[in-house]
Order: sequence, then C-alpha cells, then structure tokens
Amino acid sequence: MDYNKDNIEEIVKKVLEGMRGTSEPASPAPVAAKSASSGKIPSTARVAMLTGIEKFEIKNFPIPEVGDDDILVKVEGCGVCGTDAHEYKRDPFGLIPVALGHEGTGEIVKMGKNVSKDSAGKPLAVGDKVVTCMIFKDNPDITMFDLNKQNVGGADVYGLLPDDDVHLNGWFSDYILVRGGSTIFNVSDLDLDSRILIEPCAVLVHAVERAKTTGILRFNSRVAVQGCGPIGLICIAVLRTMGIENIVAVDGNEKRLAFAQRMGATKTVNFAEYKGIDALSGAVKDAFGGYLADFAFQCTGNPVAHANIYKFIRNGGGLCELGFFINGGDATINPHFDICSKEITIVGSWVYTLRDYATTFDFLKRANAIGLPIKELITHKFPLEQINDAFVTNVKMEGLKIAVVNK
Ligand SMILES: [Zn+2]
Repeated sequence: MDYNKDNIEEIVKKVLEGMRGTSEPASPAPVAAKSASSGKIPSTARVAMLTGIEKFEIKNFPIPEVGDDDILVKVEGCGVCGTDAHEYKRDPFGLIPVALGHEGTGEIVKMGKNVSKDSAGKPLAVGDKVVTCMIFKDNPDITMFDLNKQNVGGADVYGLLPDDDVHLNGWFSDYILVRGGSTIFNVSDLDLDSRILIEPCAVLVHAVERAKTTGILRFNSRVAVQGCGPIGLICIAVLRTMGIENIVAVDGNEKRLAFAQRMGATKTVNFAEYKGIDALSGAVKDAFGGYLADFAFQCTGNPVAHANIYKFIRNGGGLCELGFFINGGDATINPHFDICSKEITIVGSWVYTLRDYATTFDFLKRANAIGLPIKELITHKFPLEQINDAFVTNVKMEGLKIAVVNK
C-alpha cells in the first residue's frame, strides 16, 4: 500500500467522519464543523437548470474565479418553495433558463481576500455553514439593522436571478458563487435540516412581527391559525416559542391537523365536518371554550378562506393575512359586518426583512430546544440528479417540505 500524503488525509477524514456518525447532531452543533472544508475544489459544478416548463436539466459549468469580494459555497441542501413550483409549472417570472433554489445552505470552500464578516458582523471563514438572503439592487450597502424601513420590492434572491455567464446562481447545484454585496449569514451553529428551513421560517417570523404591531397579540391571546400547510404549521411553532399557548388550528386535512397539534396547537377544527360559515365559526368558538379568537392568521391561498376568517375573530380583534404570496383572486367580504362594526385591525404580511432572518436563527434553536417537531416538516429528500422527481412530488402536494440534498 502506498501511504502518500493525500491518502493519509483521506483516511483521517474517514475515521473522523466515522466517529461523528452519519446523522446530523440533534442539538445545535458545536463549531466543530470548521475542519470539514472539502479540500479540493473541482473545475466544474453541476447546476440543475430549469430549461423548459416542468423540465430540469443537469448542466455542467466551469467554476469561475473567486473574486476578491466573492464567496464560493459548496451546496449541502435546498428546500423546494411554492415559488419554485410556480416557476416550474408556468414560468410566470419569465426566467427560463434559470438556476432555481433559494432555500439553500452550504459550506464556504473559498473566499475572496476582502471577505471577513457576514452581513450581521459575525466572522466568516472557510468551513463555515452559510445561508444567503435578499440582494438589494437599490442599495447594496444597506445593513440588516436599517432594513425594517426598506421596502422589499427592490430586492433579488439567489435562485430567482436571470441566467448570466456565471450560471452558479441557484442553490439546486453543487456550488453557488455568492458575489460581493450579497447578504450572507454564518449559521454554523444550526444543523442542516434547520438551515434548510430558515427561509420559510423567516416568512412566519415576519408575519408575527407584523401581527405584534397591532398590539392585540399577547401572551394569553386566543389565536386561530387557518391553513396547516408548512406556513401555518410554522406559524403555530413561532407562536409557541413566544409563549402563546391558546391556539386553534383550522384545516380540512386530519393528518395536517394532527401535526398542528404536535407543533403546539391546543385544539383543531376540521372545516370539512361543518356545513356553512355559521357552523364553522361556532366550532372555532367551541374550541376556545366559548370565545372567538383575539387574533387570527390566514395561511391559505384560498379567497373563500379569507372571507371566512373574519367570522372567527371577536370584536376589536386582529387579523394577519399572509396566504396570498401570489394573486389568488378576489375575496368577497362585508366591510360593515366584517371590519367596521367589529373594529378589526388588519395587517398584511409578505416575505421578510434581513432582520427577520437573524430572529429566525434564534427561533429555530428555541423550537428545537423545546421539542417542537419542526425538522419533521422536511418529509422528502432527493439527490440533485432526481430534482424532477422532487418537483413532481411537490406539485402533487405529497408531504410538506421537499428538499434536494447533496451528499
Ligand atoms: Zn421561498
């Protein structure tokens, strides 16, 4: 046997991996992952390009030079988002051909000489685990702490960028090139599954922040959450980590309602069991022990659900509508009965800010620490070469969160 230097490094690496075990640590990992930087960087990377409607192709592109302000990240995994599914089915953003994937995370394998800190001021080094957030076209110098004032309209994200000559622009790939001026966070203290869930969780952290501006959401509030897809389920988890304990989940699917209960809902209401809005709002009232909700979160994309939810809310209560990421059509409500005479306070919520990202890292640690089954939201994992299957599974609405994971 020829034990040259490379060989020994390989063997040491294997032994260390064996000691660590194959599964991710359950609690926030210590910063031991530093040494796991992958060594040799190949000359090309695979990128899953959406090249037509419902068609991904795995393309090989050269890994470009890493500029002084750039960061090369080896992708570990990326969640499939509802937005990705819309683009896959219809190309509403007109991006094809496009490197999709914006709920991704991975490890820094190379950094330009000008890079030393992440967008929150935390040191960055090769081997650190990172996520990206929005890139601001209008003002790339903006820091996360100015950001609550910034409208999200001027932003872009990796995974939804027009194709260019770099191509390594999305997280459904082996490598992504994070260019200078982008927003990047060091999240080495979160395990892989938690990191994949950061982006969708940030949507709910933002929604709850919006809800709090009404002044109605308090520790002892009765809160109704309508819709128990990933967004509604994470909403319940965020509320639970804030100490809100009186939560009623409303959905038409028993399996999802059972999950909602494990995520922290006190009671559930299956709308399929009730005929008409009076019977349904009566069931919600019963679930709160004879009271309507102080506050409600609307997490479905169904206009009828929007119209219904006013009937779950008490006079003087509040509503956060966050279900319509895209245009789902018009809803018919009665402004007199639903809003004016009840004096309802309504907030809308869409996407998130950089500040919400930082809050989300802490939310995930708390959710894991108090035993919420947040990581079970990832019900399916596919390797990159099976990305078409991942999307078919997503479109069929099987499971909750689908992820593409590189191993
Ligand atoms: Zn998304």
